Amino acid sequence: MKIPFRLLCCLALAFSAGCATQRPAVAPAASQAAPSPLLLISIDGYRADYLQRGLSPTLEQLARDGVRAVGMQPSFPSLTFPNHYTLVTGLRPDHHGIVNNTMLDPQLGKFTLSNRKAVSDGRWWSEATPLWETADQHGVRTATMFWPGTEADIHGRHPDQWLPYNGALTPNQRVDQVLAWLDQPQRPGFLTLYFDGVDHAGHTYGPDTPEVNDALRETDAALARLVEGLRRRGLIDRINVIVLADHGMAPVPQANSVLIDKLVPLDDVQTVGFGVLAGFNPKPGKDFAAIERKLEAPQQHMQCWDKTRVPVRLAYGHNPRVPQLLCLADVGWRITTTAFLAQKHGTVSLGEHGYDNIDPRMQALFVAHGPAFERGVVVKPFANVDVYPLMAHLLNLPPAANDGDYGAVRGMLRPEAR
Ligand SMILES: [Zn+2]
Repeated sequence: MKIPFRLLCCLALAFSAGCATQRPAVAPAASQAAPSPLLLISIDGYRADYLQRGLSPTLEQLARDGVRAVGMQPSFPSLTFPNHYTLVTGLRPDHHGIVNNTMLDPQLGKFTLSNRKAVSDGRWWSEATPLWETADQHGVRTATMFWPGTEADIHGRHPDQWLPYNGALTPNQRVDQVLAWLDQPQRPGFLTLYFDGVDHAGHTYGPDTPEVNDALRETDAALARLVEGLRRRGLIDRINVIVLADHGMAPVPQANSVLIDKLVPLDDVQTVGFGVLAGFNPKPGKDFAAIERKLEAPQQHMQCWDKTRVPVRLAYGHNPRVPQLLCLADVGWRITTTAFLAQKHGTVSLGEHGYDNIDPRMQALFVAHGPAFERGVVVKPFANVDVYPLMAHLLNLPPAANDGDYGAVRGMLRPEAR
């Protein structure tokens, strides 16, 4: 973990007045006007290069009037829950504890996305401090139109306003809820908004399909409604808006399945999950070392590691929730079993993510617009852990310890806002 830049700055401030003159916009003076509201929008599975399809005119306009990154690198594994929690904590999944969409914890049991009880249990999330918690501690009101973690009581705190996840709410309804929150006399300072149609279409049909293009159009239409709503309220140039994604999407042909039951006897292990990143734990009385030896040897279309031997650049494997043995599919492949395929009758996802986070197909969207951001600037790719210190800076909040680097993203801000 790096020491957050702003913490360094505050330390410097204690000994010297120089810090305040170097960074006037962030001096935590009580007399300073309240920062502009910040709206963080996630379009799940919006791969960085989708923006070039010409199907997202509103996003393109926001990028032209603001900042766009060539791409943003997700954290490993490039999955939805781990990366959404990374975005609001600045921590890699190995550090914040949401290490996969499916997890086993010796004390807490099983975590899956559809398990409401687990998702809303704060103990899964409490290894980190999400931005809404810090905002709350500093009197900044928060309102979240869906975000992983917001349904849980984390360290005794929720966002001030939040809704349990409901996939039936249309993109426009989600936008209207955010606009309604902004109309309140006590306007929230930090808000989130979440769209999942692009990810769903990407999984079902694959990224290079008319169905994904339709989802891109529908999501952009909702963004157009949002921008129009902000404009009518005189807010469009007074609110900072970040639109990003958690990860990209790769096509996975129907035939590209690694059948792991053909390689090792699955009765001899505890399976945590299959998919792009499969995980296994030892089973009492079974020879786990033999299974590890077998799978860690070179395999076709996947690579397996004991959690202590995961490549360092993936920053993964220290958290107790990471299974003992991990198998990562090559991009364009899935890890499954003969029985599972038979049960699905061949209908499997034709798009996946969760792969190596440096792969070009895993890179995510990043567009930002508002009074703090430069206009018409394209920045080079950066890691998604850097979004958290950027947001803490924009809200004038002290960031919790994190893996991000404000210095990597400050160039996208106007000089007076840095
Ligand atoms: Zn997904």
